[in-house]
Amino acid sequence: AYGYATVSGRGEKQERVNEVFHRVAERYDLMNDLMSGGLHRAWKAAMVAWLSPPHRPEYRFLDVAGGTGDVAFRIVEATRGRAHGTVLDINASMLAVGAERAIKKKLGGNLTFTEGNAEELPLLDNHFDAYTIAFGIRNVPRIGEALKEAYRVLKPGGRFMCLEFSEVDLPVLDKIYDAWSFNAIPRIGELVARDRDSYAYLVESIRRFPNQANFAAAIREAGFERVDYRNLSGGIAAIHSGWKL
Ligand code: SAM
Repeated sequence: AYGYATVSGRGEKQERVNEVFHRVAERYDLMNDLMSGGLHRAWKAAMVAWLSPPHRPEYRFLDVAGGTGDVAFRIVEATRGRAHGTVLDINASMLAVGAERAIKKKLGGNLTFTEGNAEELPLLDNHFDAYTIAFGIRNVPRIGEALKEAYRVLKPGGRFMCLEFSEVDLPVLDKIYDAWSFNAIPRIGELVARDRDSYAYLVESIRRFPNQANFAAAIREAGFERVDYRNLSGGIAAIHSGWKL
């Protein structure tokens, strides 16, 4: 019900995703700004504001599909440089860009960059205060497995937070959004990254992802409690939150 597993093989989907992000890594940050009109910055800020991490040095978070580090940098900054985080991604090219940015931002001491798969985290049980994932989970072939792993690595009392594209719930906005995503995004992909197919793929993956209520149900199924969500920009994106209690 949650993606490509039934359409094509799981391995095939992950391979496709890896190829896309390997190709776009160097231009990923620029493309993000162009395709979302800079909105992804406000959405990430909203996720970190809702998380409101405490300013404790022992606060440990895991940012899965962390890519070039945006969310992790924001969490560390929100704790005034105190928190420690692991940025995990399946793609070494994305992590390399992230690690370089961390050094430039003087946040290298707060962050560890780790290659790994969200479906099988190479990490200890009951270890993190927070698990975040932004625009990552829709790329994972078995979402249920990723959610179970999130539950496993969180401490009791730990929090899961996911930022992802979702279902637009405003009648006019949905038409504009369709035109933007089906026409403009692949065209920007072609012009800026010379890679129309990768961006067409990204748009398609957004369409296949479960809507707000269905995704909340999947989070509950993995064991999380007090599951809640907030829409951003009329549902173009949504933040889901859940607790391991
Ligand atoms: N979180 C970053 C952000 O919001 O800017 C990056 C999001 S990017 C759209 C998606 C990321 O998911 C890519 O870096 C990709 O390599 C990663 N990814 C895809 N499949 C993954 C998996 N199975 N496990 C971990 N990371 C994965």
